[in-house]
Amino acid sequence: MEVCCYVVSCEKTGTAVVIDPGGNEDKIIAACEKNNLQVKYIIATHGHPDHVCGNRRLQEATGAEIIMHRDDALFFWQPEVREYFSMLGLAESPVPDILVHDGDTITVGDSELQVIHTPGHTPGGICLYSAPDCFTGDTLFVGAVGRTDFPGGSTDELMRSIRTRLLVLPPETIVWPGHGYGGNRSTIGVEAKNNPFITSSQI
Ligand SMILES: [Zn+2]
Ligand SMILES: [Zn+2]
Repeated sequence: MEVCCYVVSCEKTGTAVVIDPGGNEDKIIAACEKNNLQVKYIIATHGHPDHVCGNRRLQEATGAEIIMHRDDALFFWQPEVREYFSMLGLAESPVPDILVHDGDTITVGDSELQVIHTPGHTPGGICLYSAPDCFTGDTLFVGAVGRTDFPGGSTDELMRSIRTRLLVLPPETIVWPGHGYGGNRSTIGVEAKNNPFITSSQI
């Protein structure tokens, strides 16, 4: 489903995290091996199947621990939710090893990723921030925002998350979205000014 997967590493220690491995696991593993990276964590920006379907393969290959926000972990393990999403036929993620919440930091060698809880697309959606980069999952895209018509979605909540948690970041913050629908990167400043979903929102 053309999910943007990101490998973030510490240059000094070679420690890495993989964000949203939604397919092409062999390619991701090969890229990590080629760069001598030790994958410590697999981080799901949210629990949607297209973002977590590579978790199992990647965990088997690297031994990395899976991180997810507790609200999505709880939500996506409800039988009726699992049934709804099993229609997609994508592999389920193993149960996350570590549950995070807003304000937590995830250590990657000498650097850190800050967890920003941005519910709306899903209840436990998170963005991962390490200045100047922000991995925005399906919360914020280039010129668009995440869908809110899946179970657990809320447009009001999504727009509130974007406005109060993302638009407050420095305008030069680089946005790395969970899908490249409108482009593969942007900045918070550009999205605040040009993203039609944000400029037209009353929230
Ligand atoms: Zn999603
Ligand atoms: Zn997605």
